[in-house]
Amino acid sequence: MKTYKLNDGAMPAIGLGTWKMDDGVATQAVQQAIEVGYRHIDCAAIYNNEADVGAAFSSVISGSSVSRESLWVTSKLWCNRHQPEMVMPALKKTLVDLKLDYLDLYMIHWPIVFRHDLERPESGSDFVPLSKVPLESTWQALEACVDAGLCRNLGVCNFNTDNLAKIVSVAKHAPSVNQVECHPFLKQERLKSYCDDHNILIVAYSPLGSGDRPERMRADSDPNLFDEPVLQEVATEQGCTIGQAVLSWLLQRGMVAIPKSSNPGRMKENLDAATVELTADQVQRINGIERQHRYVHGKFWEQPGSPYTAAGIWGDD
Ligand code: NDP
Repeated sequence: MKTYKLNDGAMPAIGLGTWKMDDGVATQAVQQAIEVGYRHIDCAAIYNNEADVGAAFSSVISGSSVSRESLWVTSKLWCNRHQPEMVMPALKKTLVDLKLDYLDLYMIHWPIVFRHDLERPESGSDFVPLSKVPLESTWQALEACVDAGLCRNLGVCNFNTDNLAKIVSVAKHAPSVNQVECHPFLKQERLKSYCDDHNILIVAYSPLGSGDRPERMRADSDPNLFDEPVLQEVATEQGCTIGQAVLSWLLQRGMVAIPKSSNPGRMKENLDAATVELTADQVQRINGIERQHRYVHGKFWEQPGSPYTAAGIWGDD
């Protein structure tokens, strides 16, 4: 598997997403994923399944089938823990749940802050503006976690170029990763160019269009990646699946992809996308798909009285 060297260690180009692995499926799914060859697992405190994911880690590590060092584990700081004094305790809680003593990558999950006693805001007044808890101060608290040996690399998610620039201007430990939605309906060309210039790797989330995303992110008019004729043609030409064509296109753009699957057959299919080599012409045809769509649209942060809007989160990118 291709890997990308970050500040400390190398990230495998395909990882397993764990969002929506609810009701106890995460332990078995992560264990199966490691058995089929995944060495990169993408977690987050808000997925509310880190203890289940941790049970899989402890089982495979204690069974000596893989070592801790051979795994790449990412997790994310939730929006109710941005206050600097809350950052290290939040990471320590994640480590206890995951049954690990360090993370390979810890990231700010959204450039959004709200009250620390709520898991999700219930009204606009529950949000805290970034002027009160700036992203830069949260970042400096993350840097202390690197210095304490609790995580090896730092990153952000859902950051536009303006928010990235704020971090870049103060960072002692530079951001290694920006994890954002990316697939052929959302190519992120402007953001990719900024990230390339600043040595920031893009990790593509919802790379297959997040077919199991929750109701609050769905509309009847949403397009389905799997219905896109150009992707169907390329997959037929390559003798691969549409999912593999999409993942291969992301990898060939120099990105990491973290498809989620709880099904061992699809897990293997997604991992095997790393062996699919699209031709330059096929890459160009996928680049030429004109449809634009963001599945994880961010409008759920737009409550009356909230200082956050989807347009503000995504900026001009
Ligand atoms: P994905 O784009 O990975 O799609 C997941 C859906 O696709 C599931 O319904 C899955 O079903 C199905 N699927 C998986 N493989 C295939 C395949 N080969 N062919 C057809 N269908 C397939 O969506 P996610 O939104 O889950 O994104 C991936 C990961 O990215 C998340 O799990 C999470 O870790 C991360 N993420 C991060 C965000 C952030 O804000 N930082 C936001 C969103 C996601 P099944 O399980 O049955 O196979």
